[in-house]
Amino acid sequence: MMETKRIVVIGGGAAGMMAALTAARQGAEVTLVERNRTLGKKLRITGKGRCNVTNDCDVATVLQNIPRNGRFLHSALSQLSPADVKDFFQDDLGVPLKTERGNRVFPQSDSAHDIADALRHALNREGVQVKTGRVTAVLTESGTVSGVKLESGSRLTADAVIIATGGVSYPATGSTGDGYRLAKALGHTVVNPRGSLVPLEGEDCCGELQGLSLRNIAIRVEDEGGKTLYRDFGELLFTHFGLSGPVILSASAHMRDFEHHQYTVAIDLKPALDEKTLDERLIRDFQKNANRDFQNGLDALLPRKLIGEVIRRSGIPPETKVHDITRAQRHALLSVLKNFTVRIDGPRPVRDAIITSGGVTVSEVNPSTMGSKLVNGLYFAGEVLDVDAYTGGFNLQIAWATGYAAGCWAAWG
Ligand SMILES: Cc1cc2nc3c(=O)[nH]c(=O)nc-3n(C[C@H](O)[C@H](O)[C@H](O)COP(=O)(O)OP(=O)(O)OC[C@H]3O[C@@H](n4cnc5c(N)ncnc54)[C@H](O)[C@@H]3O)c2cc1C
Repeated sequence: MMETKRIVVIGGGAAGMMAALTAARQGAEVTLVERNRTLGKKLRITGKGRCNVTNDCDVATVLQNIPRNGRFLHSALSQLSPADVKDFFQDDLGVPLKTERGNRVFPQSDSAHDIADALRHALNREGVQVKTGRVTAVLTESGTVSGVKLESGSRLTADAVIIATGGVSYPATGSTGDGYRLAKALGHTVVNPRGSLVPLEGEDCCGELQGLSLRNIAIRVEDEGGKTLYRDFGELLFTHFGLSGPVILSASAHMRDFEHHQYTVAIDLKPALDEKTLDERLIRDFQKNANRDFQNGLDALLPRKLIGEVIRRSGIPPETKVHDITRAQRHALLSVLKNFTVRIDGPRPVRDAIITSGGVTVSEVNPSTMGSKLVNGLYFAGEVLDVDAYTGGFNLQIAWATGYAAGCWAAWG
């Protein structure tokens, strides 16, 4: 008779819980070690607490939404596709789901806790031992995994170890880069981590606009040559350092080389009106406000906080009587409204990012099994790997798929 395989999973986030559950269902004896007392601390805050659990699309579309090392994920995503993830949560774990704009899938309850708790219950049912502690080393004997060492000094023996420790973003959730250190100590290469889906530091004008949230604006990201790299529509927030909000986080994933490129975010403050229609609107507003100062004539058009900056950029002296504004001046104003640019200095630090780009280099990992090519019995899952995706549920899809592959193959391998 074959002996039961002992597997230790390091990290009880999305990828680690999926890996542990899968390995247990394959008959392995699984211990999941999580440094926090609660499993899935990050998972519980995903999607603003609603958890965008996956994207209801085919594998090819998932791959189009993974700018970094998508090809590496092809096999794992074929083993557990978005449709499989939906079935898993709905039919297997009993969490009803719904699909929203952009094929984003959420629990019907709008509560990320329902996803995390369903996984936790399933781990209990499958007999996975959950241990609170911080792993400080993966132990090996003659190039093969033999167990892990915890900060407390205790050791756990294992035939296979799955590193699912996440990246370095939102470190308060427990992901502080331990996986990189564990992998490096075993000879793996780690691509320098940096933030993706991250707020952006920008021109100092933004300081004055701090706290201003603009809904229903359009943005365009341009490089130094004026080439458009990305367009989006939605909500943007001015902060004390620059720009944040959903459209900015998404846009940041398309600005991938701050060392060699100068990026600009161009905001269309009136995307519903084309230039001709907006000009007609300005003419009407100017007729209504003909005898007022320019600085007092924009209330109907713009949020109060933005008026001063728009006037400054238009070059029209604020005390100009509206009836004195020339056609050229009106066109200058129109141009600011349609093309309010913010020069981007760089991303916020990786700790503020939604996800970490960089991590364990994928060329040293088997794409079908998530197994290390350097150490027998070692596997990786989730954000610890050098992969990252755009928003829309794709990052969790990566965590589920790589967790599933690592769990299966660690149990079988
Ligand atoms: C605010 C926010 C919102 C997000 N919303 C979404 C969303 O709606 N949809 C989406 O697809 N993605 C979203 N993401 C991204 C998504 O959460 C991550 O990609 C995903 O959680 C990665 O899963 P993981 O298991 O690899 O890592 P993590 O979730 O970070 O889990 C790693 C776990 O390992 C533990 N750990 C680390 N080191 C050790 C150690 N040495 N010993 C023991 N345990 C350790 C940590 O405590 C942690 O619990 C969001 C991220 C953030 C920050």
